[in-house]
Amino acid sequence: MRVICDKCHGKARITTRREITPRFTKLYCVCNNAECGHSFVMHLEFAHTISQPASPQRPSIGNLLHDLTINQKQT
Ligand SMILES: [Zn+2]
Repeated sequence: MRVICDKCHGKARITTRREITPRFTKLYCVCNNAECGHSFVMHLEFAHTISQPASPQRPSIGNLLHDLTINQKQT
């Protein structure tokens, strides 16, 4: 992820990230330009879904039977 300093427009680096919620993170950044040295916070936030993820795989019938107790299998 590229972060640009809004003061000098040089490259900056993320020094720390603090997850506030699973969909919102604060990025603590420092400008790489030694003459600038601006330190600042950027927000990284989930916006919206473009394509739904694949559905989680359902367990096979073999795995379901394996997890049953003997009494449940006999029933
Ligand atoms: Zn800068």
